[in-house]
Amino acid sequence: MLKQAHAISEELIEWRRDLHMHPEIGFELHRTSKIVADELERMGYRVRRGVGKTGVVAEIGEGGKVIAIRADMDALPILEQNDHDYVSKNIGAMHACGHDSHTAMALGAALLLSKEKLPGRVRFLFQPCEETTDEEGKSGAQRMSAEGAMDGVDYIIAQHVDPSKPVGTIGINAGPSSGGVDAWYAEIKGIGGHGAHPDKTIDPFYLLAHIILALNAIISRRINPFEPAVISIGSISGGFTENVIPESVKITGTLRFTNEKVHKQIHEEMERAFDVARALGGDYELRYELGGPPMINDTMVSQVIEQTGNDLLGAENVGQIEKTLGAEDFGEFMKHAPGAMFTLGTQKQGHEGYLLHHPKFDLDERALPIGTAMLVETAKRFLDS
Ligand SMILES: [Zn+2]
Ligand SMILES: [Zn+2]
Repeated sequence: MLKQAHAISEELIEWRRDLHMHPEIGFELHRTSKIVADELERMGYRVRRGVGKTGVVAEIGEGGKVIAIRADMDALPILEQNDHDYVSKNIGAMHACGHDSHTAMALGAALLLSKEKLPGRVRFLFQPCEETTDEEGKSGAQRMSAEGAMDGVDYIIAQHVDPSKPVGTIGINAGPSSGGVDAWYAEIKGIGGHGAHPDKTIDPFYLLAHIILALNAIISRRINPFEPAVISIGSISGGFTENVIPESVKITGTLRFTNEKVHKQIHEEMERAFDVARALGGDYELRYELGGPPMINDTMVSQVIEQTGNDLLGAENVGQIEKTLGAEDFGEFMKHAPGAMFTLGTQKQGHEGYLLHHPKFDLDERALPIGTAMLVETAKRFLDS
């Protein structure tokens, strides 16, 4: 299988570089999804376009089990700082999370599987908007699942590049490997006034200073240290000029967790932290946008991936997933069928320090056939089992 995947290396690189040069963000993946759908039709797949806005669902084979392979296609609002000759042409957008390569490898897997006689069906889910959510707080996986993308699926697999691990390795293990996520948005309300008369105001910056301390103490003082969780502040905005104390300030951030009980506890503790505003004479409003659940790899599916990795790459090249509280909306698909995501080593010389979401992120394209072979071989094993 590795040999077959190596034989299409050029196509894999061509797809990946083309997508890298033309990154699209969120659900606005019009060019990307058209290319993907056109290629899949050419390969003989039954293609549904526009599933979950710009998602593409494509199936091949008859009867038997249905194995889904998911690839995310969206880029990030980052100004690329690389100077290779396939640098992003959409200024301010960049494939800094490797989704260009996920898409290319899934296309490669589709191509190889289209030449096989399959004892069941393989369904590809090319999804938009993994990195963020739309105005209704829904991610690509949520939208696609709601439109039937997972109906009838027996197992689902996916991969994510890992730029910290060498080419030729994968990571896989059962259990939680990424965090559930909420975005939170708050406004701290005081009473505005002249900067020379703070006594006539309720200074929202002063309130906020205490709230920030209280927020930062939640994880270290209130949450069980064996339960991984994060609260981070992402933006603070307020005020217009140097001598006016404004009426209010806004603060936003993200929180991560791997356990639903901790999730609830963090919400309670955050209310208490913001309540400091009231204790000091002000007020606040706090709201959450609930993101995806934590990603918890199924034990059996993880074992099949691990065995495939052992056979294709050698057991010494199959490690554990580097656990992260980074969010991954693949967990949404896994609500509908058992599944697992493995990581693919893509470390590139000279780019070692530039990890996911870095403006100088890049990957070693020699990993592309490896990820492709892993997808094809794992899917075939499920169909054969
Ligand atoms: Zn990402
Ligand atoms: Zn990603």
